[in-house]
Amino acid sequence: MKKRILVVDDDNMNLVRTKMILGQEYEVLLAESGKEALEKLKVEKVDMVLLDIDMPEMNGIETFERMKDFAAETPVIFLTASGLEEDVVNAIRLGAANYLKKPFRPQELIKRVAQEFAKQ
Ligand SMILES: [Mg+2]
Repeated sequence: MKKRILVVDDDNMNLVRTKMILGQEYEVLLAESGKEALEKLKVEKVDMVLLDIDMPEMNGIETFERMKDFAAETPVIFLTASGLEEDVVNAIRLGAANYLKKPFRPQELIKRVAQEFAKQ
């Protein structure tokens, strides 16, 4: 069975692009906000989360912290624009698996996701 990845980003274009890149190999679920992501994580089996940091209302860090209550084992790769290094460092300290800077090349994303799954 294909592994399931939940992609969370407030920018719909990023969701569409990421799904296009990963859709061949993985089953890709999408969420446009932290709130929607948490709702999906409560009812769906998800093997990995790609989580945008910069989102309105609930940002990626806050979403990640809330995930710990019920999806603590799910690996998370943060997606971040440059200039948010501190957020990323904090996220890694909180236990996030990894991060990827936007904009990323398709091969970079594919490689990073595969590496993360290989660790398990
Ligand atoms: Mg964003």
